[in-house]
Amino acid sequence: MTELLYQTDSYLKEFDSTVTAIDSDNHAVALERSSFYPGGGGQPADRGTLIYGDTEYTVLKAKKTGSDVYHYIDGDAPLPDVGSTVHGKIDWERRYMLMRTHTAMHILCGVIFRDYGASVTGGDMDPLKGRMDFEFETMQRELVQAIETAINKEAARGLPVTVKILPREEAFQIPDLIRTKINLLPEGIRQVRVVEIVGLDLQADGGTHVGNTSEVGNMRVVDYKSKGKINKRIYLEVED
Ligand SMILES: [Zn+2]
Repeated sequence: MTELLYQTDSYLKEFDSTVTAIDSDNHAVALERSSFYPGGGGQPADRGTLIYGDTEYTVLKAKKTGSDVYHYIDGDAPLPDVGSTVHGKIDWERRYMLMRTHTAMHILCGVIFRDYGASVTGGDMDPLKGRMDFEFETMQRELVQAIETAINKEAARGLPVTVKILPREEAFQIPDLIRTKINLLPEGIRQVRVVEIVGLDLQADGGTHVGNTSEVGNMRVVDYKSKGKINKRIYLEVED
């Protein structure tokens, strides 16, 4: 079982760890603890490096298998043995862009729910751009500018972004979480990680976020599409 260091400290760029398993088919190693985000909830997996002695391995992606995070290694250099100590380093420039983008998406969710009562149904992102789907029947071209102004205002307000890991029963008492379909969480999940943009948005979420909305910077609503009468997709970009 890999300890997920990014869950409690999204700013952790480097760490030491121990190899706990090897997947030779995928040329990947599982670690005892890792700050590599293994992908999920629309946020892509981290890239980076693992250093073992004089060897620097390029990590192409991290991926969760069961409760282990495997780090997929580029090339065909022999992998470190189980029990070896390695030093991990995430591609911080890319990760920080993804943190800003992920928080931008939550600002968008918060504003659209607050101003239009529309719930989010899904989303996907790359560094500095993303798209989100809403049950948003009244969405129309004329609203794009108003939404863009409102989200940038929330970024500029410098709202704190907090992360808490709560027992399932406690999380289920929070009314704001119900709208993000927390009730769909599998029975076996006993703890819920809750990401809050204080005063704006609260979601059960496994991703990495900036600590304050001011770090997001300027956002643009670049497009929207109708995916049916009710479902609307909004495209967002974060300026570099
Ligand atoms: Zn999220």
